[in-house]
Amino acid sequence: MSEKMKAAVLHGPYNLVIENVDKPKVKADEVLVKVRATGICGTDIETYHGKYPVKYPIIMGHEAAGEVVQVGENVKKVNVGDKVVIDPIFHCGKCYLCLMGKRNLCVNGGLLGRDVGSGAYAEYTVLPENYVFKISDNISYEEASVIQLLTTVYHGQKRLRIMPNTSVAILGQGAAGLLHTQLAKLSGGKPIIVTARSNWKLELAKKYGADITINSAVEDPVKAILENTNGRGADIVIEAVGSPETFKQAINAVRPGGTILSFGVLTEQLNELNLFPLYFKELQILGSRASTSDDYEPCIRLVAERAIDVKPLITHTFGLEKVKEAFELIEKHPGKVLRAVVKL
Ligand SMILES: [Zn+2]
Ligand SMILES: [Zn+2]
Repeated sequence: MSEKMKAAVLHGPYNLVIENVDKPKVKADEVLVKVRATGICGTDIETYHGKYPVKYPIIMGHEAAGEVVQVGENVKKVNVGDKVVIDPIFHCGKCYLCLMGKRNLCVNGGLLGRDVGSGAYAEYTVLPENYVFKISDNISYEEASVIQLLTTVYHGQKRLRIMPNTSVAILGQGAAGLLHTQLAKLSGGKPIIVTARSNWKLELAKKYGADITINSAVEDPVKAILENTNGRGADIVIEAVGSPETFKQAINAVRPGGTILSFGVLTEQLNELNLFPLYFKELQILGSRASTSDDYEPCIRLVAERAIDVKPLITHTFGLEKVKEAFELIEKHPGKVLRAVVKL
């Protein structure tokens, strides 16, 4: 009989059950990771709601860190006992996009715990050695579970190349927005102007180096950004919400000739969006999707060196048995949660 492990198994929308399932087996080039912390992200929530087509039953969870407990015979990169963070973006390595280095856009790719493999709301997950990265002992597993999100932020800002004294407006201060704030500050962006609808998020943004904080629930964010940039608009606007409203704000708050990073995942239709400013202001709009394996090592170093502080982003922790409660909390009070982490 095969060995068993505990896992949160999704059998259909909202139907998430803790069960004993077969523990994954390790192939020659694979690594078995004992999961220690998995962050709950918006993608998991969408899958939980049935908004994203998946093959049931499925074990979700992709923002994870853990300990290597078994390695296949060909594995060279890590050893048993290593602390690792998981890169959940699978790619084929053969398609034209992979060969261009755009592995995050792989035509055969997929996300662990959604499109491929067995995810990390489980005691164990198995994946090829190329998808695990060693972390140092001074990073806790909980902190490490935020590194995947940081790699996506890093990936986006690599496309921007923020130079010292570039004015940067960051719309939205959820976990990703707050990481954008820290990273833009590190790159020398000035002033860093941030918007959010809750004062506690703006307070945290200030600690992370935001120069100007705007509560967009009480103040017109576009007007405030223009006022703080001599009426010009920001050199760079990072949209970190993924809503039509903030996307419109980005177009109006960026200076002529400036750049918008569309970071928040925007799935809604944009009605009544006037794209004339694209022409008139000669704007650049950049998309950013996930991250690639080369984003991991710099991000691990940023966290290990405490240049980026991810700890305050972890607002809630849950045991695996309580994962359904965690999903319900995020659903009911999305504004109160930055990162909820499942600890194992
Ligand atoms: Zn995610
Ligand atoms: Zn590919």
